[in-house]
Amino acid sequence: MVEFRQGMDMERRDFTKLTTFAVAWTWLPSYAQNIGNSQKPVGYAAIGLGTISSIFMRACANSQTAKVTALVTGHPDTKGVKYAEMYGIPKSSIYSYEAFDRIRDNKDVDAVYVGLPNSMHCEYTVRAAQAAKHVFCEKPMAISSAEGRKMIDACRQAKVKLMIGYRVHYDPTWIQAIEIIRSGKIGQLESFQGGFFGQQPVGAWRLSKQLGGGGALMDLGIYPLNAIRHIAREEPADFTATLSTRDQGGRFTEVEQSMEWTMKFPSGIIASCGCSYGQRGPSFLNINGEKGYLVVEPAFNYDGVHLHGEVGGQPVDQLGTGKLPFQFVLEAEQFASCVRNNTEPESPGEEGLKDLLAIEAIYKAAGAPIA
Ligand code: NAD
Repeated sequence: MVEFRQGMDMERRDFTKLTTFAVAWTWLPSYAQNIGNSQKPVGYAAIGLGTISSIFMRACANSQTAKVTALVTGHPDTKGVKYAEMYGIPKSSIYSYEAFDRIRDNKDVDAVYVGLPNSMHCEYTVRAAQAAKHVFCEKPMAISSAEGRKMIDACRQAKVKLMIGYRVHYDPTWIQAIEIIRSGKIGQLESFQGGFFGQQPVGAWRLSKQLGGGGALMDLGIYPLNAIRHIAREEPADFTATLSTRDQGGRFTEVEQSMEWTMKFPSGIIASCGCSYGQRGPSFLNINGEKGYLVVEPAFNYDGVHLHGEVGGQPVDQLGTGKLPFQFVLEAEQFASCVRNNTEPESPGEEGLKDLLAIEAIYKAAGAPIA
């Protein structure tokens, strides 16, 4: 469990307040102080300069302990130069994918941030490990459990750390929800219902089996899946699943449009979830206990996470006030702290692998195995 301190520097991250729940705290993660004032920030090389990497770079610009010191891109002279100028990165620290392995010699790079399409995560994690760099890799960790194992092995062999970008593990509102659950105040966990839905346009790499590895389940369904596994603290054993593609306009020739599935855990906890690349719907998780319940909605957004429900007969209502890119600042700083203090991340490679094993089981249950 992530540690918290009561914080003063609220201008940078104005965090959540409990409204009707028992204690009115503001919570601030302690990674920044853990790195120690005398240590220089952990230097990251951002690999793949798309949507998520641009958020990550913005996050690092808001951090005292994490800094982007190199860039890896297919467009070194355009995108590379643009971001290098924006974040004060020397031109000599812009790498093409082909020249990436030379990063081994760059002493300003401690770690890489992998913000590439899913099917490229494994290759760049292994190459980064071989270049003796720590790896912070976006979710899904890879497109198969076999790749996930390869990444874990490569990082272990090279004695570098591997963290997967599960934002929920670091968001203070989510951590508050988990603390309420762990306190026993909603009683024994009984069931979850969750979902994450959206639209993808024609031509998006996420609709390519080769690049995405799968459809909405890989990209969006993984959020309720991971949150449920993280909260339940056990691995799902029995699955049912069904997928459907109603849109015949050409978007879904390689991957599913929508997936619904159920999971049963060895303890008897049951869960039902949905996700889609072709429908509007809420991002939510219901957590039902024998004595109370929590609802997180929106649940998986970059900010504005809203927790409500009933705990011990009392209403709970808490709205996260941190703003994008605050979850990414927390992740970047948590991993920086792990690198500097030789500690293990809250969401290590093994966590990513467990999700991939469940994802493979869900696709198999839906009659569309990917492994
Ligand atoms: P994106 O399309 O915006 O960026 C992908 C980057 O990879 C681009 O810079 C692109 O140029 C580069 N790239 C290199 N080779 C490519 C190829 N063959 N095809 C396509 N692009 C190629 O994607 P994104 O939304 O930034 O997603 C990147 C990763 O981050 C994915 O694994 C995704 O699941 C993950 N992600 C995580 C979150 C989160 O909240 N944690 C949110 C969005 C995306």
